Amino acid sequence: MDFQFTPIQKLVQKSVRRFSQEVLAVVAPHLDKEHKTHPKEVIDQLAAQHLYGIQVPEAYEGAGLDSISYCLAIEEISKACAATGLMVTVHNSVVALPISVFGSEDQKKKYLADLASGRKIGAFSITEPNAGSDVSGMQTVAVKDGNEYVINGKKCFVTNGAIAETMIVGATIDRKAGNKGVALFLVEKAFPGVSVGKIERKMGMRANPVSELFFDNVRVPKENVLGKESEGFRLSMKILDMGRIGIAAQALGIGMAAFEAAAKYATERKQFNQPIGKFQAIQFKLAEMKANLESARYLIYKAADLKDHDLPFSEASAMAKYVSAENAMKVCTDAMQIFGGYGYVEELPVERYFRDCKITQIYEGTSEIMQIIIGTAILKEFSGGFI
Ligand SMILES: Cc1cc2nc3c(=O)[nH]c(=O)nc-3n(C[C@H](O)[C@H](O)[C@H](O)COP(=O)(O)OP(=O)(O)OC[C@H]3O[C@@H](n4cnc5c(N)ncnc54)[C@H](O)[C@@H]3O)c2cc1C
Repeated sequence: MDFQFTPIQKLVQKSVRRFSQEVLAVVAPHLDKEHKTHPKEVIDQLAAQHLYGIQVPEAYEGAGLDSISYCLAIEEISKACAATGLMVTVHNSVVALPISVFGSEDQKKKYLADLASGRKIGAFSITEPNAGSDVSGMQTVAVKDGNEYVINGKKCFVTNGAIAETMIVGATIDRKAGNKGVALFLVEKAFPGVSVGKIERKMGMRANPVSELFFDNVRVPKENVLGKESEGFRLSMKILDMGRIGIAAQALGIGMAAFEAAAKYATERKQFNQPIGKFQAIQFKLAEMKANLESARYLIYKAADLKDHDLPFSEASAMAKYVSAENAMKVCTDAMQIFGGYGYVEELPVERYFRDCKITQIYEGTSEIMQIIIGTAILKEFSGGFI
């Protein structure tokens, strides 16, 4: 076991940190206040930093880096601007990476380089108004017609929905087959019949245009099925296993931003003629915040390391996401408490960290669903596979 970063991982951390603090931290408060989608300059600058295909092989214009480097990048981006972290992590780990891992050679040639270079933005769309945690309940249907599938239905809460041009979309091809009747399709926004619905007004992550998507007789070539037709549900679960490592790193980044702001404030803010950090009540809060973030960090690196060694990482990724999201939310709450009334007003960024952090306990599987995944793995282990 090696707790040291490689020279490449250190370089990624340093360069993404510098870029994120110089560029993203500056625009983040304005984008948040105005509910404004990322301007094209920011999207292009992320491309110049090679942040759209972090784990995609160089042959497809990716950076070809490992999962720990990916986590370091997402943490630094999210620390500066969580909404940018959301755009980048969804694009990378539930769109570009799955095409790289599960896509056919033709799919990779057609879609991957555009995604990895940032020429096109990606989205992953399985949630529907009546199918959230229960993915298998999706009502969007795909009916085979010759060499094409015809998709009809409605999706909601699609991260990058309004800006994405390449999307992975889940649809039911055989309702009677249950989970085996779900397929994943590569759908282009430009295909006739695809349209963007309402863009959500949100508590946090405001710079990300999370939207509805409508599919009205959208004809998709059968070559655009990702993996096998009957594998959509299984692949979705595997894709989310990969995605959750990124969401965990995002939660860690937001928590780190809140912790560092609170620690600095504790040394500067004076009450009763001394810095508030001198009060044990504040020191204990800071100590707990740091310990909680460090424990999340090592669960994230463990999940990433298992993934990079091609070992099972589903439970580890659920634990990383569960602990990181829960701990980061607690850290943001404590940071706001340390800031007192100033934590609650918009002039300082702590209230934004608090608002942005909440969703990490919900998307890509709620904390309750993470507990179910971990609990199921425990029962399987201790029953010898009989439960
Ligand atoms: C900002 C944002 C971005 C998103 N981005 C995407 C995206 O890019 N792509 C996409 O497909 N989806 C996306 N989502 C959807 C997100 O993944 C879902 O909201 C999430 O999975 C929960 O589904 P739900 O909202 O329908 O809640 P529900 O599934 O209705 O859950 C409601 C509550 O019931 C609990 N619950 C449900 N089932 C169980 C159970 N079996 N046991 C115990 N408790 C249970 C949940 O934990 C939760 O507390 C996004 C959502 C938001 C808000």
